[in-house]
Amino acid sequence: MNKTWFITGASSGLGKMMAERLLARGDRVTATVRREDALADLRQTYGDSLSVAKLDVTDTNGIRTTVDEAFQRMGRIDIVVSNAGYGLFGAAEELSDAQIDQQIATNLTGSIQTIRAVLPHLRRQGGGRILQLSSEGGLIAYPNFSLYHATKWGIEGFVEAVAQEVAPFGIDFILAEPGPTATNFAAGLMRATPTDVYDDTPAGAVRKALDSGDFAIKGDAGRTVDAMISAADSKTPPLR
Ligand code: NDP
Repeated sequence: MNKTWFITGASSGLGKMMAERLLARGDRVTATVRREDALADLRQTYGDSLSVAKLDVTDTNGIRTTVDEAFQRMGRIDIVVSNAGYGLFGAAEELSDAQIDQQIATNLTGSIQTIRAVLPHLRRQGGGRILQLSSEGGLIAYPNFSLYHATKWGIEGFVEAVAQEVAPFGIDFILAEPGPTATNFAAGLMRATPTDVYDDTPAGAVRKALDSGDFAIKGDAGRTVDAMISAADSKTPPLR
């Protein structure tokens, strides 16, 4: 039977590819984007099966309104994909306060508030599923990604606790933990202003490797998306 999905951060990368594959198999999708024109190609191909809503996940009121409207429009939503996020790169002491605030507001608070906004709807409709994008970086840590790791380790703890709260209502979670995957992620990395203090340290070596292209991100996005869809489709999905 065809399913209904709500996906945040679907203008590119894993979110867009997931939306495209679901639409191609006949599912209905509400995709949120920050730029109105972002999914014009998919809209043209899939018509009314795709609804596009403008949403910046750092806007908590905006999340609530967008989620409420999506449930009203679609009737029910089977699977919510909390995907919006980006990477912040740089030694912890070189990051600016604004960069730190933005990383936490997007990856951590944005995901928390997306989940909080959908829970009452999923409860009222008798259950549902939430797929939260974490990362391999939610399990292990590399120098220069400290804030990214803080957000992904943080969302994993949040999900593990909330999953226990809402399991009695038929709501279950999947934590997706992809390794490095070829999307816009690398190009979209927000970077600290580097100083030479860390040049001769492991953090400096990671920075040099990234700058020289030796740290290329090559993982197959198609395989990652197929694995996430398959986990979301399964009768008893794994938490990870
Ligand atoms: P992309 O950069 O291709 O996609 C990220 C998406 O998030 C874009 O649609 C972007 O929108 C959106 N986004 C960023 N900030 C906000 C915001 N404040 N509000 C709303 N949307 C926002 O990268 P990926 O597809 O790779 O990333 C998707 C998720 O996968 C992220 O959570 C990332 O952490 C995770 N991940 C990625 C890995 C990788 O190596 N690629 C590995 C493990 C996890 P816009 O186009 O407007 O910027």
